[in-house]
Amino acid sequence: MSKISSMGLTTRIMIGMVLGILVGSIFQDILAGEDDYLIPLGLFSLPIKAFFVDGIFHIGGEIFISSLKMLVVPLVFVSLVCGTCSLSDPKKLGRLGGKSIGLYLLTTAIAITVAISLALLFSPGEGVPLPTNNVYDEKVAPSLASVIIAMFPTNPFEAMAKGNMLQVIVFALLFGVAMALSGKAGNRVATVFEDLNTVILKLVTLLMNIAPYGVFFLMAKLFTTIDIDLIAKLAQYFLVVVAALLIHAFINYSVLLKIFTGLSPVKFLTKMKHACLFGFSTSSSSATMPITLETATKKLGASNSVASFTIPLGATINMDGTAIMQGVATVFIAQVYGIDLSVTDYLTVILTATLASVGTAGVPGVGLIMLAMVLNQVGLPVEGISIIIGVDRLLDMTRTAVNITGDCMVTCVVAKSEGELDETVFNDPNAAKDLEDYHKSLD
Ligand code: ASP
Repeated sequence: MSKISSMGLTTRIMIGMVLGILVGSIFQDILAGEDDYLIPLGLFSLPIKAFFVDGIFHIGGEIFISSLKMLVVPLVFVSLVCGTCSLSDPKKLGRLGGKSIGLYLLTTAIAITVAISLALLFSPGEGVPLPTNNVYDEKVAPSLASVIIAMFPTNPFEAMAKGNMLQVIVFALLFGVAMALSGKAGNRVATVFEDLNTVILKLVTLLMNIAPYGVFFLMAKLFTTIDIDLIAKLAQYFLVVVAALLIHAFINYSVLLKIFTGLSPVKFLTKMKHACLFGFSTSSSSATMPITLETATKKLGASNSVASFTIPLGATINMDGTAIMQGVATVFIAQVYGIDLSVTDYLTVILTATLASVGTAGVPGVGLIMLAMVLNQVGLPVEGISIIIGVDRLLDMTRTAVNITGDCMVTCVVAKSEGELDETVFNDPNAAKDLEDYHKSLD
């Protein structure tokens, strides 16, 4: 027991994940024959599916996700207010905004270009039969204008209650600036916010201790229901998306980080392990935000004033992994339906998917909804989504890890350019190892 608790958190989460995958796969096998296999319990017997899969696994996983989400609004609001009011130069805010939005759009455009090129090279849609009676229930994607207008809250409490992150960001920025301009009163409020920040970070620590169990439940439930046969049938599509995600995460981010900052990509990627595990198992960059923020500040060395702005913004508007799936999916669907796309169409796809990623919320499966908007732009049948929907969950997990890595890469670049990156922390392989040492130091 003590051996387990002395292991690093990342190792424990990894063990939880592997065990969850194993247990889920075993359950899938057991349930394959008889759906209502009964476990004898004294005088009673319980259906295995109801008890384990829809019971324990489901409840455990949902509690874990809800607890993570519970922290997002208070954490973002408090840390962003602290970050903004500690900015010495108000002009810096505009610079931070410009640089991060510019870099987020640039990395997304690169991501989707790689995805389309790879899909054209390997033609994953060739030979795939047309869907017969598949129906996809199309949802309407919001327009860019409405996304921009909706950034401004009419009621900040409503924005927080609904978890509307862009509105929370805008309110926190204005509140922080006003605090900085309010002299002594502002300073008194700032002390309260600093203390609140420490308390919320403590809450993050408490939650991280249950992460290995939470990840176990999520994986066990998922792998009981995942359709491996379907993945095998769409293996080419699946592999092209995964290859593009890996190229973007390992090559593109490394090159960009090196060019813009001169920092070591290997150190960067090593430090992303922990946050990526969270992103992978939750499939939500929004729910992972508490961990991403801590990784950016305590492990990568970005200052709180930069990271508390760039990370929530990135988790809301920067979805490189999602854009990659959309790029491959567009080419794939065009090939399945035998529709030729022109160069202009591809450029439209790059532009639309880049903008779509701004409107994609960091929650599971939203990337597919936004894909409808991309397909519409180039006149492809939206029902094509029904072919890939069955294999999307595993891809969603992988692309969420990439989305988070992109947020942290841009944070490092912006922080470095503002002189707000502590390179001693970045270069220290043991900095906040598993984030636990840091949390212990709060005691
Ligand atoms: N699950 C992704 C995220 O939260 C969004 C998506 O691609 O559906 O980052």
